[in-house]
Amino acid sequence: MPGLTHPPSSPYIIAIDGPAGSGKSSVSKAVARRLGLGFLDTGAAYRALAWHVLAHGADTSDSSAVVDAAGDFDVQLSLDPDDFWVRVGSTDVTAAIREPRVTEAVSGVARVPAIRRSINTFFRALVAAADARGVVVEGRDITTVVAPDAPVRVLLTAAPEVRAARRARELTTQDASAVADALHRRDASDSTVVDFLTAAPGVQVVDSTELDFDQTVSAVIDVVDRTLGVHEAGGPDGR
Ligand code: C5P
Repeated sequence: MPGLTHPPSSPYIIAIDGPAGSGKSSVSKAVARRLGLGFLDTGAAYRALAWHVLAHGADTSDSSAVVDAAGDFDVQLSLDPDDFWVRVGSTDVTAAIREPRVTEAVSGVARVPAIRRSINTFFRALVAAADARGVVVEGRDITTVVAPDAPVRVLLTAAPEVRAARRARELTTQDASAVADALHRRDASDSTVVDFLTAAPGVQVVDSTELDFDQTVSAVIDVVDRTLGVHEAGGPDGR
């Protein structure tokens, strides 16, 4: 009977914010895998846009050039934590968006308010259409702007020197002090747009400074367990 049917409920969001080098992406992906949820790396969409603007030969520090170049930006992102990919049009940019030239350019495109508005609309639509009961969404403004009503909201932090050391280990081809400088420059630039260094009211902080990777994943899952109940957080692998 039409009057008695309910629309299928949208997937819920586990929102995870944090600065570069906090381990946010790999931790969020592992949490999604353990709980059998989708995974959305929002930074990858901003990186894909920076890649696209660079491909147009446009100046990523010029807001109107960025908005113009974004006009034909067609991004697709996988929500599968076991098979993560990013495409712009028909080009797979999964690896290219991690190149230093993209990392250098990304804050410039991410600071444009019109860009943030349309990317946020895209994120919400992507989650709403996800074929999963929930999605772990990670970024800088997920707990505050994209999904302030998410049932679980976490700020993942770590001391700046620990973050720089982790990032330098990931980028083995680059000099450690250059990596630290680039990371701090990007944090400084990003934090003028969104404050991801202090937790908004109701957001639970997980400080990974003294934790290894597995301990950090467990700490986030503990927050999910406490908030949603162990039954929900138990996931398909019967952890
Ligand atoms: O997380 P990741 O380092 O890949 O993010 C790349 C960049 O995307 C950040 O430095 C920031 O400029 C931007 N970003 C953002 N808001 C988000 C996620 C990322 O502004 N929610």
